[in-house]
Amino acid sequence: MILHAPRFQPRALALAALATLAAPSFALTISRLTPPSNAISPTANTLARFLPGQRFDLQATVRPDAGQTVTRIEFKVDGSSVGVISAAAPVTNAASAVFAGNKSIVPATAITAAAPGSVAASVRAYAISTPGMHTLTAIATQSDGLTTTATGNFEVIGITAQGRPAKNIIILLGDGMGAAHRTAGRILAKGYAQGKAKGLLAMDTFPFTGLVMTASLDSIVTDSAPGMSNYVTGNKANNNQEGVFPDDTTDSFDNPRIEYLSEFMHRTQGKSLGIVTTADVFDATPAANAVHTADRGKGTGIVDQYLDDRERTGLSVLLGGGRKWFLPNAANSVTPQALNGSQRRTANDYVLSSDITTGWNVAPGALDANRDLIADFQSAGFIYAPDKTSLDSVGTPDKLLGLFSYSNMNVAVDKIDGRRGASTIVNDYGFPDQPMLEEMTDKALSVLKKNPNGFVLTVEGASIDKQAHLMDSDRWMVEVIEFDRAVQKAKDFAQANPDTLVIVTADHECAGAALIGSSLLSNAALQAKTSGSHTSADQRDAVVGTYEAAKFPSYSIQSDGYPVTTNIDNKLLVGYGANADRFETWLSNAQPTQDSQQPFVGTSPLNTYPANPGVRNSSTGVLITGQVGGQQAVHTATDIPLSAFGRGSSLFSGVMDNSDVFFKIGQAAIGGVR
Ligand SMILES: [Zn+2]
Repeated sequence: MILHAPRFQPRALALAALATLAAPSFALTISRLTPPSNAISPTANTLARFLPGQRFDLQATVRPDAGQTVTRIEFKVDGSSVGVISAAAPVTNAASAVFAGNKSIVPATAITAAAPGSVAASVRAYAISTPGMHTLTAIATQSDGLTTTATGNFEVIGITAQGRPAKNIIILLGDGMGAAHRTAGRILAKGYAQGKAKGLLAMDTFPFTGLVMTASLDSIVTDSAPGMSNYVTGNKANNNQEGVFPDDTTDSFDNPRIEYLSEFMHRTQGKSLGIVTTADVFDATPAANAVHTADRGKGTGIVDQYLDDRERTGLSVLLGGGRKWFLPNAANSVTPQALNGSQRRTANDYVLSSDITTGWNVAPGALDANRDLIADFQSAGFIYAPDKTSLDSVGTPDKLLGLFSYSNMNVAVDKIDGRRGASTIVNDYGFPDQPMLEEMTDKALSVLKKNPNGFVLTVEGASIDKQAHLMDSDRWMVEVIEFDRAVQKAKDFAQANPDTLVIVTADHECAGAALIGSSLLSNAALQAKTSGSHTSADQRDAVVGTYEAAKFPSYSIQSDGYPVTTNIDNKLLVGYGANADRFETWLSNAQPTQDSQQPFVGTSPLNTYPANPGVRNSSTGVLITGQVGGQQAVHTATDIPLSAFGRGSSLFSGVMDNSDVFFKIGQAAIGGVR
């Protein structure tokens, strides 16, 4: 809540009265002060919190009286001025914006239609090291000399020197992985007997476990952008936004920034950054470790920032899918089929204003759809691996880029079946030789450990979420196994390098997954049901075994670590509390459901794959009506489990907010633990 001081001109009262009569909504106002303060009470659990010296932007949105323009904004912290910027002429469009060093006044383009003359004034990359509460004040002046003030607060979380710091930070994020997803992975990979798990997942063996509250700045139900960003900035972001606070301009790349863990650790300790994912690397989770944007969809600008700001983040390893954003699109064409699958577009690229480039010392960006980003990475010293075979043969370079598909990588089931010669799905996608997440993690660790200052590594198991959205139960359950094998690699590394902290968590729960029981039928009998009546009686009641009828589904694991098949007799069955309509056979789906992120999804053979859960199995399954509209299951607001291992792991127990995790990591990496 912004505390507004009363106006300083008695005439204001008369004017205010007049204004309410003429245009009631208008009065000189600071309508947004950033960092945001707690709406409930300024003294309660402050909203914006920072590590000592962590950089962040200050910003105020000012709406002038009708017919007036904003001429000056001053920012004060604890009563001391930290930045003043003036506009000699009205700031009404981009051409009249004012830039002075790390400060600016620009039109608040998102609100100028409703409130003409509104501006956003910024002081970029501010920082303060004094722990404790701080008061932020903005004072705005308009052309008739009237001023108004807004006051908020933020807190600097002190770090105590406690001893041995964590030199390496590894965050493994199972996207959408709630408690049910973890349990399902254990049932498949380890099995149960007489009520006891016959083995534990790697993540189960971590000594400290907590529960994380996952809300974003604007909703109890977060998406993956703040779901990751909150962990590595210590601050809440809006849905779809990463590394930034919300603002009132329409530009997706000028929002008030918060320094990322990667940037802070690189700047203060010389650490490297590694990002590994099975998703497209433009996707929210990988990007929300290094890229600042108010629009997680702006792919060209997002991947360009990875390279352009490598000196800021220490980026040394980037592995995953997403080659479509790295291939030049000379014609800036929107029809990738005709070209090389490139999705680069001017429309989703970035150019930064000088206050940002000056304040944050970052590259300005350019509208360059025709950029050959792979070549630029190579020129910057990155070794490039387009497939698993080359990944295995690059040794341990100082910098490594691996792009193993046009967009999201194929899921574990399809990669493993491809290796087993049991399916050609990865061929249909054009990438028959993709690495598994544990193989990418292993390689990333071997490269990153070369930095004596240590590193920050984020590893994402992305398709737990993507397949849970599609309610493809068998595919997301096997994704949990792939993810846990990467967790094992990180645990092994931490055991060999004790100054390492490993955190296993999720950004949110996806689909309201519930392990409802197991099939009452053999696989053959279940297969036969696909040509039955598809009634609830026949294909639900006669199939779903609950309570004691569920017993212990038993999956055989092949030497490659994955189930021989998920179509076992009496298989585990999943229900969804956040589901959309689907036709359910309870069997594994021969093909994955179409992924709209794939540039060639509209052409054969990918366009022959099931289009969405609402049509998939429509002639072989029973309709299960969804709780939500649309074609996909959705995220839920449920807390998620977090597990920690290694140096500083004792800090991670109890119920915590996702933004708290950042400060626990800060304590471990800076102040250390006894
Ligand atoms: Zn999701």
